[in-house]
Amino acid sequence: MTAKEAYSRAEKLRQQLQQLSYEYYVLDQPSVDDAIYDGLMTELKRLEHDFPEIITPDSPTQRVGGVALSKFEKIEHQSRMLSLDDVFSKEEVEAWVQRIRKMNAAISEHPELFVDIKMDGLACSLVYEDGKLARAVTRGDGFVGEDVTTNVRTIASVPLKLRLHEDTTSFMQGRTEIRGEIVMHKEDFAALNKQLEDTGKKTYANPRNLAAGTIRQLDPRIVAERKLYFRAYDILRASSEELPTNESAYKTMRSLGFLVNSEATVLHSLKEVHAHIDQWQDKRHELPFNTDGLVIKINDRAVFRALGVVGKNPRGAIAFKYPAEQTTTRVRDIFVNIGRTGAATPVAILEPVVVAGSTVQMATLHNEDEVRRKDIRVGDTVIVRKAGDIIPEVVEALTDLRDGKEEPFVMPTHCPVCETALVRVEGEAAWRCPNEQCPTRVARRLEHFASRAAMNIEGLGERNVEVLLNCGLVQDIADVFALKKEDVLKLDRFAETSANKLIEAIRAKETPTLARFVYALGIRHVGTQTAIDLANQFRNLDSLKNATIEELNAVEGIGRVVAESVAAWFAEPTNQQLLDKFEAYGVKPQPVEQVGGPLSGINVVVTGSLGSMSREQAAEKIRSLGGTFQSSVGKDTTYLVAGGKVGASKLAKAEKYGTKIIDEQELLKLLEG
Ligand code: NAD
Repeated sequence: MTAKEAYSRAEKLRQQLQQLSYEYYVLDQPSVDDAIYDGLMTELKRLEHDFPEIITPDSPTQRVGGVALSKFEKIEHQSRMLSLDDVFSKEEVEAWVQRIRKMNAAISEHPELFVDIKMDGLACSLVYEDGKLARAVTRGDGFVGEDVTTNVRTIASVPLKLRLHEDTTSFMQGRTEIRGEIVMHKEDFAALNKQLEDTGKKTYANPRNLAAGTIRQLDPRIVAERKLYFRAYDILRASSEELPTNESAYKTMRSLGFLVNSEATVLHSLKEVHAHIDQWQDKRHELPFNTDGLVIKINDRAVFRALGVVGKNPRGAIAFKYPAEQTTTRVRDIFVNIGRTGAATPVAILEPVVVAGSTVQMATLHNEDEVRRKDIRVGDTVIVRKAGDIIPEVVEALTDLRDGKEEPFVMPTHCPVCETALVRVEGEAAWRCPNEQCPTRVARRLEHFASRAAMNIEGLGERNVEVLLNCGLVQDIADVFALKKEDVLKLDRFAETSANKLIEAIRAKETPTLARFVYALGIRHVGTQTAIDLANQFRNLDSLKNATIEELNAVEGIGRVVAESVAAWFAEPTNQQLLDKFEAYGVKPQPVEQVGGPLSGINVVVTGSLGSMSREQAAEKIRSLGGTFQSSVGKDTTYLVAGGKVGASKLAKAEKYGTKIIDEQELLKLLEG
């Protein structure tokens, strides 16, 4: 990227960020998730870091985004109210410590750090003169805020007079400024928003916006009716010696009668900080107010001051933000991926970005209609989402950030691999490559066959499959069992040990369960559960092979489309030859002896990791005893097995459906029968 390109991109980003800030700070009605704002801000920061000459004084990286509304008197802050630099990973926390150590020799490798919960509310400054509340001012743009004293006086946790205590006498004289966050509790927000909705009034996106909207009410009686809390995080006095550390500042604020977070603490090493980050990852959801991370500050306030300010942020503090499930990035290209069943899926190649804690470089665009509906173009800035194990997807394009160079996507008419014309069955969203021998389809089939949920053959991943196919050692899934060590050894990729291991791994799978084998065949619409249902019903491969559509359709949980797909697969002569080959190579799927079993009718969900077995092993064990392993809690879930801490949403579902939560020990007992 040239400086000129960087400049025009930065200008686009600034315009967009300013618009979003206006909606957020002035209207109290954000149109996007905070993570989207943060994603665009991160890109702007990176551009300004790489091309410092493009920084403008009014850039959102340099100025706090709020403004003071004219309906309130504007008050200049005696000292500027700052924002915080965001970081999104532990590595960035470490990099911050390294950076400030270079600037200040007093900072040791493991400096004392003061860590508090980052509250998601609105910042407010309370000025006390000789111990009495004189003014309450919003942060505004950091220099000038709004006088909201009348409204803030109605907040019960704001002392109108500082509390006199043996260690606070000196604070009864002179100016004391307390800074903190005005927050609304999640529960109060839900109730109030509902009430607003019921009475046909404007509702709010989140507690922060409702708190901000409340503080800007012209009628203090409305404010008094709404429950708000002021939680202090900073204190300013003329003499800085009174409060040498942030720890002492918090102690004093508490003595003065302020609510401060009891979770705030001093940590002594980065290791402790990392552990603290982990500890609060889920626990923060249990707090009554919303949080978006942690605030990490140098505990020594003299060092903090000496580090100074860069742009709108103090150097001596950072905000650690927990990974969001969505963010923004740009589409570098769109290509079409051919899957095992021939489905041609448009996939976006993205500028790498961290979403939900892992780096994402590709995201599915699902199908041609989706791309058209969302109008995703190469070069677009897009929102990507990834929740848990779900494949990342492109949610939408931020069209305001276009510069005219974006290219619309055109669905190819032919398979990009084998050049066979793509076909689209009426009523289906996907175009497909109909060529069963399409090299990509063959490779995907092999990968699927060997995958963990299927035959679980270790050492037969994407790279090895490609090598074995390229040299012609295998042509279909059955050929895997004809592989010989001598042949494998001839390939560059294998040495004695790795060749031995692969052959042993294959041999060990000559007698798979019928369900695994059926799933591994890669029949369209047959997932793990369907394969189990089929195996339990037909007991052996021969019966399944000969089953009619009606017989298949009669199986509980198997619909017409699946039944037709299964019957069609077994009717296909090439597939019959494939099964003959398996037999000739000695592969014998095990017939199902016993249907039912002690766990029949019992549905189990496992969350988190277990100490004694993998999730796959647990699933297999549960199924072998006749139970059903489910991926998420539903109304028919009998047990939720908690491997570690249960996330808030799973817990809520379990409560809702009356699912019993058990631990690993109880699961083991269940599996013993
Ligand atoms: P910020 O809110 O992320 O961080 C700085 C602020 O954190 C401080 O001013 C302080 O008020 C607050 N804070 C909370 N707990 C604290 C604690 N324990 N100690 C110290 N400070 C604490 O930064 P910002 O510049 O005020 O606001 C930007 C944020 O607002 C972004 O994170 C962004 O996501 C959001 N935003 C969203 C939109 C949108 O459209 N959704 C638009 C603009 C801004």
